[in-house]
Amino acid sequence: MLTDAHCHPFDLVHAFPQAEQERRKLRILAAASACTQKEFLHNETLAHNAAADSVAPLLPCFGLHPQLPAVRAAEGNPFPETEINESLEFMHSLAQAGRLSAIGECGFDLYNAAFKETEAIQDRLFSAQAEISLRYDLPLVIHVRRAIHKTFNLTDLLLKCKSVIFHSWSGTFEEAQSLMRRGVNAYFSFGNVIALNHKQAMRTCTLLPIERLLTETDAPFQPHRGMDFSQWADLPLIIETAAELRCEAGNKIDAKNLEARIEKNFRTAFGL
Ligand SMILES: [Zn+2]
Repeated sequence: MLTDAHCHPFDLVHAFPQAEQERRKLRILAAASACTQKEFLHNETLAHNAAADSVAPLLPCFGLHPQLPAVRAAEGNPFPETEINESLEFMHSLAQAGRLSAIGECGFDLYNAAFKETEAIQDRLFSAQAEISLRYDLPLVIHVRRAIHKTFNLTDLLLKCKSVIFHSWSGTFEEAQSLMRRGVNAYFSFGNVIALNHKQAMRTCTLLPIERLLTETDAPFQPHRGMDFSQWADLPLIIETAAELRCEAGNKIDAKNLEARIEKNFRTAFGL
C-alpha cells in the first residue's frame, strides 16, 4: 500500500476537486495536516467517510505551521494572542477526545527575513504543541527549514516523543544520523524533491536505514517541474525513484518491496 506521511487534503481539493476519489482508487494511506479548525473538520469528514466505506484510511492531524505568524503579519494581521490560545485549546480538545493521529505540522522556518522576525512566536508555538504531543503520546510531524540547529537544541524534548516525523527532511544525512544516534525515534520523509535532482535529499534518502524512511506528497505544495501542484498520483514515481537511488548505492530493493517496507514504517511511526 502506498503511504503519504504528509499532505494537505483541504488545499489539494481546491487545486484538484477529484483528489479524494483518486486517493481511494490508488489506495493511499495518508496523514492529513490541517492548521485551522475549518481545514481540520474538512479532513476529518473525509476520514470518517473513508472509514464508513472501508477504503484506505486518512489520518487527521492538526498543527500550527511555523510560517503562520509571518503569513499573518504580511497580511497586515499579526497572529493575535486570542487566536493562538483558541487554536491550542482546539488542539488540546481534539487530543483529549482521541480525534488526532498526530500533532503537526509544526516546527521552525527561518528561510527568509520575514520568517526570522517571527522566531520568538515560532518557539512559543512549538513548545506548546510539543507539550500536547507528549501529554497525549501523539507523534509529532515537524517542518524545519534553515533551522536544523533548533531541533538539535531540543533533543531532550524530542527524545521523549513517541515518534518524530520530519516532513520533507532538508538536513544532511549526517544530521539525520546524529538525531538517531542521540536516541530520537525519528523518521524522515521525502517527496517529489528526490525526483527533481535535489542532491542532498537524494543522498539522505539513499543512505538512511530503510526502517527510518517515509514518503510524502506535501500535496498540493510540492509539484513536479512544470506542474501546478503535487498530488497522490505522484507517489508511485517517488517510490520508484527512492528504490532506484538505493539500488545504485548497492542496497538492492525493488519498488514493490520498498513500498511495503515504507508502509510498515508509516504504521509504526503513526502507531497504527
Ligand atoms: Zn506541508
